[in-house]
Amino acid sequence: MTPAAYSIGVDLGGTNLRIAAYTKPSGILEEIRLPTRLHDGRDAVVRDMCGAIRELLDKHSYSFLAGIGVGSPGPIELPEGRLHHLPNLPGWDGFELRAAIERILGMPVIVENDANLAALAEFVLGKGKSLGVDSLCMLTLGTGVGNGIILNGKTWDGMNGMAGEAGHATIWPDGHVCGCGSNGCLEQYASATAIRRMTCEAIATGAAPGLAALQKKNPEFTSREVADSAHAGDADAQKVWEMVGRSLGIGVGALVNTLNLPLYVIGGGVVQAWDLFAPKMFEELRHRSYVYRFTDGEIDAFGHRSAKTYVEPAELGAESGILGACLLPFVAGPEPPK
Ligand SMILES: [Zn+2]
Repeated sequence: MTPAAYSIGVDLGGTNLRIAAYTKPSGILEEIRLPTRLHDGRDAVVRDMCGAIRELLDKHSYSFLAGIGVGSPGPIELPEGRLHHLPNLPGWDGFELRAAIERILGMPVIVENDANLAALAEFVLGKGKSLGVDSLCMLTLGTGVGNGIILNGKTWDGMNGMAGEAGHATIWPDGHVCGCGSNGCLEQYASATAIRRMTCEAIATGAAPGLAALQKKNPEFTSREVADSAHAGDADAQKVWEMVGRSLGIGVGALVNTLNLPLYVIGGGVVQAWDLFAPKMFEELRHRSYVYRFTDGEIDAFGHRSAKTYVEPAELGAESGILGACLLPFVAGPEPPK
């Protein structure tokens, strides 16, 4: 029997570099994890990456290679894979990631924004598969807020790779300043970083004794501990999560009104606190989006059942980035000639 075609996926993060071999029938066959040696410079990181790719290519040379997919933090110009100001990869501005990898490997690779790859994985193997939809939009709540859009089974890159930046959609016009140069972005109200900041702001008012005690006990407290406080009944912690919910509801409402897709997936570590932010999110969503209200899947007064817009937590968790990179060669069309 001919062995199944395999792909190699790379997940380039600010802390870890993950390189995996994958087949459709068996999933991830094996994975190499390395620290991202940022202090040694981008060439060292790319050399590490290519060394691990070669190791996997040699091991699996008996079967057909579908391609190599590389996920990078954005903003990134596609298909060239040229990086722009990345907060987690200082000194990589203007770096042509795809060309650098191809020079060393002597073979083509496909580069994609990591938020788009998380969306692709969720589409093929997660919530998109469970619901059987053809398109979805995903928000990943982590250090920042990533956004990826899958239209008719393909990642939507936009004109040059910069589509899907809803993390920097304005939610509160005079809100907190953002690293992108604007202020009041969704990322400033729905990321793990934002939850910590909003908690510190509540503590600074002097009127949130429970949260002040949390900070005193652990100055490095995380969004998860703010969730624990809210679950334990702390009203100030609950208010922080309500703000996350309101902000997400406004952001998702604009996406629903613009895109009218069947599914919006919310992923990232913060989603473990779904029960804390979802009620406000849905309340706001119903208020802000009549498209959402008109697509509730119910039968109306005229006996017509509407289509349904789903807003759901992600299924795949922290594996979605590497899985999306592995899936990319199987779904990306042939590269245009250079
Ligand atoms: Zn921003």
